[in-house]
Amino acid sequence: MSNKVTITNGKLTVPNNPIIPFIEGDGVGAEIWQSAKAIFDSAVAKAYQGQRNVVWQEVLAGEKSFNHNGSWLPDETMNAFKEYLIGIKGPLTTPVGGGIRSLNVALRQELDLYVCLRPVRWFKGVESPIKAPDKVNMTIFRENTEDIYAGIEWQQGSAEAEKFYQFISEQMGVKKVRFPKTSAFGVKPVSTEGSERLIRAAIRYALDHKLPSVTLVHKGNIMKFTEGGFKQWGYELAEREFTSQVFTMQAFERLKKQQGLDAAKEALKAAKLSGKLIVKDVICDAFLQNTLLKPEDYSVIATLNLNGDYVSDQLAAMVGGIGIAPGANINYLSGHAIFEATHGTAPDIAGEDMANPSSLILSGVMMFDYLGWFEVGQLITAAMEKLFQQGQATVDLARFMPNGNILTTSQFTQAVISHL
Ligand code: NAD
Repeated sequence: MSNKVTITNGKLTVPNNPIIPFIEGDGVGAEIWQSAKAIFDSAVAKAYQGQRNVVWQEVLAGEKSFNHNGSWLPDETMNAFKEYLIGIKGPLTTPVGGGIRSLNVALRQELDLYVCLRPVRWFKGVESPIKAPDKVNMTIFRENTEDIYAGIEWQQGSAEAEKFYQFISEQMGVKKVRFPKTSAFGVKPVSTEGSERLIRAAIRYALDHKLPSVTLVHKGNIMKFTEGGFKQWGYELAEREFTSQVFTMQAFERLKKQQGLDAAKEALKAAKLSGKLIVKDVICDAFLQNTLLKPEDYSVIATLNLNGDYVSDQLAAMVGGIGIAPGANINYLSGHAIFEATHGTAPDIAGEDMANPSSLILSGVMMFDYLGWFEVGQLITAAMEKLFQQGQATVDLARFMPNGNILTTSQFTQAVISHL
């Protein structure tokens, strides 16, 4: 059997010794990768007693690559991710100047990784700025390829900006640009295909994990066709493709109109009792407030690119900050997925043996879950839960813990391994 992960009809086939390419990353990357790899290998060995193991294959990107071969993102790296489907990476320095805007964006675009997946949970013992962090347990599906983030914009004062304004004013009759001569312009493409594949993935995830709800987070009250379209297409998709498995708040509104509020409430109650997935929506600003006031109302979140950026960071901050929040970029159709630390290269602490490797470790947990090796993630998560409860953590977390005991990256790594 080959040791490549493959996909047929949307189902992954994972050999017992899969080759997984990894990018160590810049700055603290080397330290946190060494830590995460040691923990992954120990957990796999413990879970499968030698029956399974990962064949790690280093590929280069970022500063390490540039210093080595003059390229920030060599073709071999892209080809390895294409060929082996799954990969994991540490943080990368964003090149200043030069053709590449961001290496992460280049990887996402080339592999069409349309879901940015960010699970957000709290670990007991980790200090949080909110009163009841135990109520925060959400998984964010952020659309990764469209929206105002597509990078279609023209600089103020450029010939393109002028031409664009001419077009919208003369051809499209737009009269609303307040200061046309000094405006920069950006375009916000949001498509049915792009929205539907993201929302479909979120609904499937919620059903597979037996979660109570999917919330479509949007600003459709103001941006009616783009953000409003996202909401509308999401409801339609849920009712069309998951008819017997979901109850939507749009159906609730229809019932309310036809049969009155009590009948709609009854139907919602019955749907919840029968275990149906509730699909609802909320305006993004209200959502951000609600995540602080009643986070227990939300489970799986589906949202567009810009909203998703703000939402992911706020939720991460609510459970302990960027040192601990994992992430992945996934194309569920082709199977391609890159799991990654969500923080940057932390140049201020690089080489000091003090970085928190948790974000990369938990990204690895997501990767093992994606591969179906659930036992690995369970072992690692349980070990980290125990350590945090005892106040054992790297300085970024331990300094805020009442019982905090500051560990170096290497000490934390050994502590996780000894608790597996
Ligand atoms: P950063 O995330 O590197 O650092 C922000 C702050 O958080 C710093 O004080 C840092 O010490 C701290 N921090 C970050 N990760 C930590 C960890 N694991 N443990 C403990 N503390 C941690 O953000 P920045 O300084 O804005 O960016 C530095 C570089 O990283 C830039 O080149 C930026 O473009 C790049 N970057 C890369 C990614 C990525 O590859 N995914 C993401 C963000 C930033």
